[in-house]
Amino acid sequence: MIFTQVELAPADPILGLTDEFKADTRTNKVNLGVGIYKNEAGLTPILESVKLAEQRLLKTEESKNYLGIEGVQAYNSAVQALLFGDDHQVVKNKRALTAQAPGGTGSLRVAAEFLVRNTEAKTIWVSNPTWANHKNIFQSASLTIKEYRYYKAETHDKDFDAMVEDLSSAKAGDLVLLHGCCHNPTGIDLTESQWHTVADICLKQELVPLFDFAYQGFGDGVDEDANGLRILANAVPELLIANSFSKNFGLYNERIGAVTIVAENEADVKKAFSQVKSTIRGNYSNPPAHGALIVSTILADTELKILWEAELKEMRERIAKMRTLFVETLKQEGVTQDFSFISRQNGMFSFSGLSKEQVAKLKDEHGVYIVGSGRISVAGMTKNNMPVICKAIASVL
Ligand code: PMP
Repeated sequence: MIFTQVELAPADPILGLTDEFKADTRTNKVNLGVGIYKNEAGLTPILESVKLAEQRLLKTEESKNYLGIEGVQAYNSAVQALLFGDDHQVVKNKRALTAQAPGGTGSLRVAAEFLVRNTEAKTIWVSNPTWANHKNIFQSASLTIKEYRYYKAETHDKDFDAMVEDLSSAKAGDLVLLHGCCHNPTGIDLTESQWHTVADICLKQELVPLFDFAYQGFGDGVDEDANGLRILANAVPELLIANSFSKNFGLYNERIGAVTIVAENEADVKKAFSQVKSTIRGNYSNPPAHGALIVSTILADTELKILWEAELKEMRERIAKMRTLFVETLKQEGVTQDFSFISRQNGMFSFSGLSKEQVAKLKDEHGVYIVGSGRISVAGMTKNNMPVICKAIASVL
């Protein structure tokens, strides 16, 4: 017997919460745990641009033959254009190669496993706090995890001096995980000059940035959100990017993302990429096609691309409105504590500063679900559920 000795795994801090939410029979329950975009009606519909691309694919797709290990070529080129913009030297000089991978998670995992197996990089620095699954992914790939400070609870703001101090103690060849934009869970991003400082540190200390880019377009715009990544790509010889289209194309269950390697020159990137492909082959052989075909169809067609950008803008602007409404409604509910920092943050999430006890009360007494760390998915708020959320928060403070 081999299974009797297996220990029960703890529930996932985010997806476990969704299971609890589903089992909750209260009618006015609200899930602000998992990062899923909801529209004003509280739904997560398929984007119009995606539907149109799918209709085209239904007519034109002729085979379900395997893709190559690296996936759809047109998709991989489109990913590079989104990441680096048009005419970036990294692309022109053939220093970047991209492999389609299953979502941001799959991309991070492929990147981590490739690094551990083939390079001296064995340690990765992640922000404290960071997305709950980062540690899980990197530990599964046998990377050693260290943390750099990022957030100051007292000010509800970034602690950039502490970040710089911690990264300054990293060793040559260490990896640094950077959230490209819309930092999860805090919603607090680096400024342009801070990105330059991080680039200087990485260059001086020979650290290798690994960008987790899961929210391009949810902060300030598709190009604006890539600013940090492009600053680093201009400054350092080597970096990696794991990007996801789960959120910005609403393709959550298609599992579509990519891992991109940037090396010092074409010869190095080709060698590294051959090992990325070998890692993929040993994991899932080659990726599924549908998500990549949707994204590449949209990005290759002027009209569909314009439509997608408009839909993305609508999502981004709705979340920004919810931030302001949240702060206002809390005030109307008599909350005197200052929550204005929420309206200054970016992307789907905010760190509310609520304690574990307050989070538990919100769930048990009011059916409002947020992650134990106090992270709130602002993207799950609507005009309709706002009063319920704010009344509940006011009563647990
Ligand atoms: N990185 C971050 C920071 C995320 O928030 C997420 C999704 N919650 C991912 C990666 C993974 O995205 P995907 O669902 O595409 O695997």
